[in-house]
Amino acid sequence: MSLVRVEGVSKQYQLGEQQVVALHDITLSIEEGVFLAIAGPSGSGKTTLLNIIGCIDNPTRGKVFIDDVEVTGRSANALADLRARTTGFIFQTFNLFPVLTAAENVEYPLLQLPEISREERQKRVAKYLKVVGLARYGAHMPNQLSGGQRQRVAIARALAINPRIVLADEPTANLDSATGKSILGLMKEINRQFGTTFIFSTHDRQVMSMADRLVRIEDGQVTMFGVKANDKWKSVKTAATEKNQEG
Ligand code: ADP
Ligand code: MG
Repeated sequence: MSLVRVEGVSKQYQLGEQQVVALHDITLSIEEGVFLAIAGPSGSGKTTLLNIIGCIDNPTRGKVFIDDVEVTGRSANALADLRARTTGFIFQTFNLFPVLTAAENVEYPLLQLPEISREERQKRVAKYLKVVGLARYGAHMPNQLSGGQRQRVAIARALAINPRIVLADEPTANLDSATGKSILGLMKEINRQFGTTFIFSTHDRQVMSMADRLVRIEDGQVTMFGVKANDKWKSVKTAATEKNQEG
């Protein structure tokens, strides 16, 4: 069983008179527990693909399955509920609320889950601030934190709901390379420790090299699906990559 499957997914945007094909006939199966990089140049469709996997955006054609259950076509409310319980999001520009403390930012997604008590919320906040190494920074405002610390708060916020999947759109693009490396290292450690599936986009080779699965996309098409073995990428044939090689 796969955790996420996208089948024949295309996405087109209408830009005035012009049709932009952001994704073309993508088929992918993502197993639970992987640390997967979506790599490709700017404009290749990485953000669009992440948004479709995260049910933030709907494909123009094709289907998305979570746990083998189709989610395409569900109502906006049903998708919002699915996201709130399943998926944590991390962004390139951190996207913390500037008027909330670090702890309040981490608590925020839990306020959407009425079954989680106030006490449990406090426990989760403390737990995940500790996991990201910011136990003593709960009362800090985002503007009192460095870029790397802000991204750590964002990671704690993504983890607060105990998500099955964390989606991260170029999480290191606004950080210097040493800080980016430590953020990726932290994500990988969480992936190992909690078994949380991570799917992140990047165009940085160093970041790609830390993944254990690699999806390369160019011009909205998957050009390679790689699995790491002995520190080398081994290209795995998939329906999608074969089709692209034929055509
Ligand atoms: P990446 O994240 O790899 O840079 P994107 O997924 O953001 O790529 O974009 C893929 C393509 O779709 C690009 O050509 C981009 O200009 C186009 N695109 C993305 N979002 C929109 C939109 N809302 N309206 C029109 N075109 C878009
Ligand atoms: Mg992008």
